[in-house]
Amino acid sequence: MSDFVRNCQLCEIPMKSSPFLLCPDCLQEKEQVRVFLKKNPQVPLHELVDSTQIPISHVKKILGID
Ligand SMILES: [Zn+2]
Repeated sequence: MSDFVRNCQLCEIPMKSSPFLLCPDCLQEKEQVRVFLKKNPQVPLHELVDSTQIPISHVKKILGID
């Protein structure tokens, strides 16, 4: 089944078969959030959103607080 398609867990766009649950754009956002939180572990959510420019709905899903 090489044409297996699923939706990105974050933005829900359909994507081609991938070992990841997220599309490339969202993987990048997730990495950005991860790096930012590593540098600023106690940062308030709104500051994370301001600094990374990632939509808060995505950030919440990335962090599993949706
Ligand atoms: Zn996505």
